[in-house]
Amino acid sequence: MTQASNTQDFDVNSAARNWRVEATAQPTPSELVTEKFASDVLTADQLKTRMSKSAFKSLQATAERGEKLDPSIADTVALAMKTWAMEKGATHYTHWFQPLTGGTAEKHDSFLNPAGDGVAIMSFSGKELIQAEPDASSFPSGGLRATFEARGYTAWDPSSPAFIVRHANGATLCIPSVFASWKGEALDLKTPLLRSIEALNKAVTPALKLFGASEGTRVTSSLGAEQEYFLIAEEYYYRRPDLVMSGRTLFGAKPPRGQELEDHYFGAIPDRILSFMTDAEMQLYALGIPVKTRHNEVAPGQFEVAPIFEHSNIAADHQQLMMQVLRTTARKYGLVCLMHEKPFAGINGSGKHCNWSMATDAGENLLDPGDTPDENMQFLFFTSAVLKAVDEHQDLLRACVASASNDHRLGAAEAPPAIISIFLGSELSDIFERLASGQGGRGKSAGLMGLGSRVLPEIPVHAGDRNRTSPFAFTGNKFEFRAVGSSQSISFPITVMNAIVADSVGDLMTDLQTRLDGGMELSTALAELVRETYKTHKRIVFDGDGYSDEWHHEAEHERGLLNLRTALDALEHLHSPKNIELFGKLKILNDRELAARQEIMYDIYFKTVNIEGETTEYMAQRQILPAALAYLAALKNVPESSRAAAGVSREVSDMTDKLYDALQVLREQNAAQGGEEVHEKAYHMRDHVLPAMREVRTVADRLENMIDFKLWPLPTYRQMLFVK
Ligand code: ADP
Ligand code: MG
Repeated sequence: MTQASNTQDFDVNSAARNWRVEATAQPTPSELVTEKFASDVLTADQLKTRMSKSAFKSLQATAERGEKLDPSIADTVALAMKTWAMEKGATHYTHWFQPLTGGTAEKHDSFLNPAGDGVAIMSFSGKELIQAEPDASSFPSGGLRATFEARGYTAWDPSSPAFIVRHANGATLCIPSVFASWKGEALDLKTPLLRSIEALNKAVTPALKLFGASEGTRVTSSLGAEQEYFLIAEEYYYRRPDLVMSGRTLFGAKPPRGQELEDHYFGAIPDRILSFMTDAEMQLYALGIPVKTRHNEVAPGQFEVAPIFEHSNIAADHQQLMMQVLRTTARKYGLVCLMHEKPFAGINGSGKHCNWSMATDAGENLLDPGDTPDENMQFLFFTSAVLKAVDEHQDLLRACVASASNDHRLGAAEAPPAIISIFLGSELSDIFERLASGQGGRGKSAGLMGLGSRVLPEIPVHAGDRNRTSPFAFTGNKFEFRAVGSSQSISFPITVMNAIVADSVGDLMTDLQTRLDGGMELSTALAELVRETYKTHKRIVFDGDGYSDEWHHEAEHERGLLNLRTALDALEHLHSPKNIELFGKLKILNDRELAARQEIMYDIYFKTVNIEGETTEYMAQRQILPAALAYLAALKNVPESSRAAAGVSREVSDMTDKLYDALQVLREQNAAQGGEEVHEKAYHMRDHVLPAMREVRTVADRLENMIDFKLWPLPTYRQMLFVK
């Protein structure tokens, strides 16, 4: 055999051995965990000890009740922040924000200021705290900001606490911020999220007042996001141009063993992985992120981490930090953390289930069924509002999770389908059904609203039988939106949830008021409203198998539900008259801001697939084709009398020709434009580049199974998924 281009067996050894040398984490005494929690967060308690009573009170009014910031306290807060940050070892500060790329951005400035005569002081003013001006022209704006007026500014968001991010040689004070154009239009994902939280509060508090059962005066949404991810050995990662360029494998034959043994899910966590997780968790604790659960996921090499739910604004910040900490920590263990929705074809993908509920400032969960009938009626009101919201805005829920990467997952019979429906679970479905048909609870009649007030069943938390195939499920005291992708920011999905429920509650309240004005009793009016809402929107409720063909047929043809198969189908709906009105009315996004988001999502789709297409071409041309030809050349050295050599040679030769042909098609499609407009380019990617890539891959994957292992230029699925 000619010289091996790849000493695969050596790599297996070094990939598995590497971390033992690199891991440096010391075991953490358990009592340190509570001490460590939020130690790098500038909590309200911390601020309180560093500010005057009146200044602190004024800040609280802004942070907790969304009141306008009193600019005169900015200097006081800045001083407190700086002092605290320097005690923590920080030398720099940054406004930390969430541009429309879906990631986070930071531009560090030092506290250092020359004070003349070779002397320097550390300073930080209220002005610097409140506002900064990064060069906005490098962030996507979707046309919101013409280049000649490239200015954009970041502004401190007092409702999310500042925190410290550490690196080997220092630390930085991070100040959660929003990012807007000079005209005040949102250039980020945070601003609309904050606006949607306000819209939800505005819509829901009147309902609470009317029902009179709540002690709360403000309402926010709560969110808990479960993060799935893969870990692979770093050596393999760097030898896969596809992983480095696009975050997913564009080639790779199925390994002889996938997840069929079902031995990985909840199995014992391998030593190296557990060391990594513990290290990451300690950092997350310091950041005040309440990570609670960790386990192996379904696929080999796949894991999950979940925090306890929090106020959705904080949860969105924490989710970004969590992804960042997982990524950076993995490197310390010779691992790479893959957040992509589908890093390995044929193996389960990764999602980020978003558990959403509404809570009052008195700590009540409005989606908690409770155990008294009055609360139950309130609960049924809010639950039916969610039904209505999801039914009326299927398009938006689908669009807010639309991306090229999530397309590999949604509808692939392992993740929720692209059709949006709600799973209520048998008990809750039963309650709505009985209500709709005018029957009393559990057969006993009389009492409030014909539901049988004293007989309304208590709905135990976790009544929801598990249904993994539903994109939107009631799970005990919250709704779980499961179509969200593992790599995406959760800010827009939460914004959409808040918006559609705010809208729906608003509509229902108007309806209710009309009934009350007509002289109807509150209890009767409520019961009727819930009944009618359920009947109108019942088509969205589906408790069966979301993967089945029957469901796809029934959903589309009998129930008239949307089936937006690909990201582009969904994106078509984003900037529609209905959605312009919705976001406009609630003051979450204006027409231009919404249009910008659609434009950027098209653009990211186009760029993502474009990079994948070119990487596929590169790897096929420069790595796979040469390997196949080298093998054919090597086979020529075998005496002609060998039937095996002749046979293999013929098969490989045929397949190599096919690869060559498929590659020509891909090359043409990569070179073609598809149009001038960004959505035209995106459609070209979906309809021409992706199919051409698939052809190349199919042939290449077959070659992988034919060619001498030592000649294969890429780490295989078997190696990447099973070497721990
Ligand atoms: P499961 O998904 O198996 O039901 P859990 O009940 O532990 O798991 O919850 C998963 C996530 O949902 C966690 O992040 C948890 O904190 C969050 N969660 C629990 N209750 C609520 C709630 N009322 N609102 C929002 N998220 C919640
Ligand atoms: Mg879950």
